[in-house]
Amino acid sequence: MIDQIKTKVSNNIRINDEEALYLYRDLDLLTLGKLAQEKRFKLVPNKSVSFVIDTNLNYTNICDAYCSFCAFYRTDPDDPSSYTYSVDEMIKKIRKARDKGCTTILMQGGLNSDIPFKFYTEIVSRTVNEFPDITPHFFSAPEIMKMSEVSGLTVKEVFLELKKAGQRTMPGGGSEILTNEIKSKISRFKPKNTVDQWTDVHRNAHEVGIYTTATMMYGHLEKDKDIIETLSHIRNVQDESIESKSARFTAFIPWSFKKDNTALGKKIKKEAGPNQYLRIIALSRLYLDNINHIQASWFSEGYKTGQIALSFGADDFGGTLFDENVMLSAGFYNRTSVEGIKKLINDAGFEATQRTTEYDLIEEMSR
Ligand code: SF4
Repeated sequence: MIDQIKTKVSNNIRINDEEALYLYRDLDLLTLGKLAQEKRFKLVPNKSVSFVIDTNLNYTNICDAYCSFCAFYRTDPDDPSSYTYSVDEMIKKIRKARDKGCTTILMQGGLNSDIPFKFYTEIVSRTVNEFPDITPHFFSAPEIMKMSEVSGLTVKEVFLELKKAGQRTMPGGGSEILTNEIKSKISRFKPKNTVDQWTDVHRNAHEVGIYTTATMMYGHLEKDKDIIETLSHIRNVQDESIESKSARFTAFIPWSFKKDNTALGKKIKKEAGPNQYLRIIALSRLYLDNINHIQASWFSEGYKTGQIALSFGADDFGGTLFDENVMLSAGFYNRTSVEGIKKLINDAGFEATQRTTEYDLIEEMSR
């Protein structure tokens, strides 16, 4: 089967699910990495590895989704560790991030029914008006569904309002593993969102012109076939978005489940390691032939594994993530600086290049 796959990769022919499963399970790691890197240079032909200066802010940790993999949420507003910030308080945090040099603000929160829809549109419009150099990369599919629930608007109408307020991009959280079986197992009381709901939210975002990323959190209850199914849903949505000439996924970002302080963690003996991560990076580069950027995460997988992933098909190194709290709650702590990120990329043999939220290289834009 490997010869057939090599011929496909050389000739830009799409690989199928059976071939993907073979690559993921059976091919030796270094051959897989070499093949993925060949594909990476076909799609992104220079040695640039992009990164963004960003931070990850959270506006509330109150949530009614009860995801068993999450150590971040609180259910009781009277719990001293629960919080919901006002728009003014969030604007102060954004100002601080801007002063540190951030160009992207990634902002997400729990699913809190007490927050009115106006909060979301106001925070977008105030961000773009008060900080024109910042791109609001706000919310994820489950939050969009919560906005739809509290406002009575359809998902499409929610996006139209957010776009009117100034939003142009959205992160891809909430996908985890895109099979209904796994989703129903890792959300304790109800599925946070089904496969169709997640894909539908992203389809709607693309239709109104909002670019999104796609993500996958693996290393818990999924089987190998579930990884392939997840990638297949993402590839299909991207095909449709390209076909309809709308916005699309800019990047795919996988990371491994971190088990500390989570209910799901009690069922998982060992967290997924670097070998599996590199296989997933390489597989996604080969399978997702319609998504230009594959992101390596120094943050979730560690500096060394992040660097090695750049030779396994990844061409982006994520962001500085100055204030990340979700993985921190699960006992995971990695931090760096802009200079630190540049050094990691350059030391791995690539050329660190700052990018925008939309993955345009800033140095190229200014030429
Ligand atoms: S992952 Fe998000 S939606 Fe799920 S419980 Fe945590 S905060 Fe809520």
